Amino acid sequence: MDLILFGPPGAGKGTQSKFLVEALSIPQISTGDMMRTERKSGSELGKQFDSYMTQGHLVPDALTIGLLKRRLEQPDAAKGAIFDGFPRTLAQAEALDALLAGMGRKIDRVLALDVPADVIVDRISGRRSCEACGQVYHVRYSPPPSSGRCGSCGSDRIVQRDDDREEKVRTRHAVYLENTLPILERYSKMASGSRVVSKIDGTGSVEEVTRRIAAALEK
Ligand code: ADP
Ligand code: ADP
Repeated sequence: MDLILFGPPGAGKGTQSKFLVEALSIPQISTGDMMRTERKSGSELGKQFDSYMTQGHLVPDALTIGLLKRRLEQPDAAKGAIFDGFPRTLAQAEALDALLAGMGRKIDRVLALDVPADVIVDRISGRRSCEACGQVYHVRYSPPPSSGRCGSCGSDRIVQRDDDREEKVRTRHAVYLENTLPILERYSKMASGSRVVSKIDGTGSVEEVTRRIAAALEK
């Protein structure tokens, strides 16, 4: 199964991916997480991501597609993957389809999280992330342990991402509307009758959204 978890920044893609990884026994491929790891390592590649990510702009397609291709070639992704935050442009969607076709695969499902703007602002402004392991928290809905240490790895570096500040969030949302949303139409058209794209109401608790995703997958 190859599945795209689609939605604007802050919709809950990363959060819901955890459930899908368990339910489907395939890995989550998050280009955002991979890029942050690369930046943290201080590598030359990571340095190339820096200014785009800090400003809330998209990393150029050639770099992003190269990164994705190498990840998709890893053995754990041989039977499928959950794509989180990729594709974000039509060129990336075309590249993904071509890569999968070369492996005898295709995108089986697109789960599109539908979340109104006010909920997104509330979720993204309260998001905190562990700099060490990437674990995501929310100041109100899933607060980090009172010790101030990450519940996953024990690090004390639970921070607000540099691109989760208000001005950058606005840029990222505009980028989403302009570059990323049109992808949905592409997959809807391709789906002709086979219902590849499912819209999921992304409001409510994490568990409620998970239940809606599970129900959509059973269809
Ligand atoms: P969010 O979880 O809020 O949607 P991500 O972690 O997916 O954010 O992405 C953070 C940033 O990383 C993006 O704003 C962009 O700069 C970069 N990025 C991640 N994935 C891609 C991609 N597929 N194409 C281009 N840039 C990307
Ligand atoms: P994305 O990967 O789409 O950018 P995240 O999964 O990182 O989104 O979620 C954004 C923020 O919202 C995080 O702080 C997360 O803890 C929180 N969150 C995610 N889903 C829900 C939900 N259903 N209810 C409340 N908060 C949520």
